Amino acid sequence: MNESKTYGFTTTILHSDRQKPIEHGSLHKPIHTSVTFEYKDSRELAAVFQGRQPGYRYGRQGNPTVAALEEKITRMEQGTATICFATGMAAIGAIVQALLREGDHVVSSAFLFGNTNSLWQTAAGQGIDVSMVDATDVKNVEAAITPKTRLVFVETIANPRTQVADLRRIGELCRDRGILYVVDNTMTSPYLFRPKAVGAGLVVNALTKSIAGHGNALGGSLTDTGLYDWTRFPNILDTYKRFNPPQWGMAQVRAKALRDFGGSLGPEAAHHIAVGSETMALRLERECANALALAQMLEADDRVAAVHYPGLPSHPQHGIATELFRAFGGLMSFELRADIDCFDYLNRLKLGISTSNLGDTRTLVIPVAHTIFYEMGPERRASMGIAESLIRVSVGIEDTEDLLADFRDALG
Ligand SMILES: *Cc1c(COP(=O)(O)O)cnc(C)c1O
Repeated sequence: MNESKTYGFTTTILHSDRQKPIEHGSLHKPIHTSVTFEYKDSRELAAVFQGRQPGYRYGRQGNPTVAALEEKITRMEQGTATICFATGMAAIGAIVQALLREGDHVVSSAFLFGNTNSLWQTAAGQGIDVSMVDATDVKNVEAAITPKTRLVFVETIANPRTQVADLRRIGELCRDRGILYVVDNTMTSPYLFRPKAVGAGLVVNALTKSIAGHGNALGGSLTDTGLYDWTRFPNILDTYKRFNPPQWGMAQVRAKALRDFGGSLGPEAAHHIAVGSETMALRLERECANALALAQMLEADDRVAAVHYPGLPSHPQHGIATELFRAFGGLMSFELRADIDCFDYLNRLKLGISTSNLGDTRTLVIPVAHTIFYEMGPERRASMGIAESLIRVSVGIEDTEDLLADFRDALG
């Protein structure tokens, strides 16, 4: 690989590990299970601990297999550095642990992954004030900003109702105000969209989903895009200011969240995620094509009351999705006509599997209000546009005709 040449998305992933020497000419970075790392010269050990020399010290703070994955994700997002975590939630939790303090304020999209919504409630209990706004219009974000606002948090395409945040204009707002802009890119993945393009400072990816892609490993990551000026962030501790300012944020996250809270990604999971990521573009092409075909078929059927998919012209943010994303993603949701019971419908599916994950190679379905959004209650569900009969579909890579026939036949 020629470092000065710009390669395509998949070429870059496939040849990422080889940019550094790999033991014995391995093509995969090996799974390093050692918890600790020896230094023959103890002065070097001290230099590594003091951050004067790169190197590994203890597996909780870093591991060579995980570091190879971190580099891959940095390349995917065209960022400057990435930190991996045990899960996507550990990555989002790291933002709260490492970057926020009591008295701080956060503006968050109200259309959120359920556990992130719950995390903001936890943060509120710890003195961090969170305003939840309809982020499909930048005006609502702007109106919520206060002098104590430390960051704005949005998802690209919200799960399960597929609202698309006003990504570009929120980026401009955050840039003008010097506020950290955090974008959870899980629903689009770096193949369909790079949040750096709209000014994000930090990018979250739940690696569990499209990047690993096979439902066989959990993981999460935070990527610094290099766009945010950390000297404008009031919560950087003096000890991390010994690094160059572009490194302040990630230095503090690695120490205050990964080291102190320990939600570290294991090397075996990092290997699964790295292998899965090699076919991400191929999988997503099929997934997105299947999702569009399924959404079109369901929308045309009068037994279906509503279909939510950004690829449909009827979707309120179809325009911005067309402008910003390479394709419209593998996630859609729909409501059946009132006389069709959603549980009976799901039970009639032969290929759609009733379960909670998404971004798998297989098509997964779930009755949202009765499962993942049950705990929040009917009022909050209604405010998020979640109908009691809503079915979420994470579309897989099955042969298109098989999938369409399964969802059509189950209608009765
Ligand atoms: C799944 C998901 C997460 C959390 O990831 P886990 O690996 O399950 O912890 C965060 N954000 C979004 C948008 C997700 O879909």
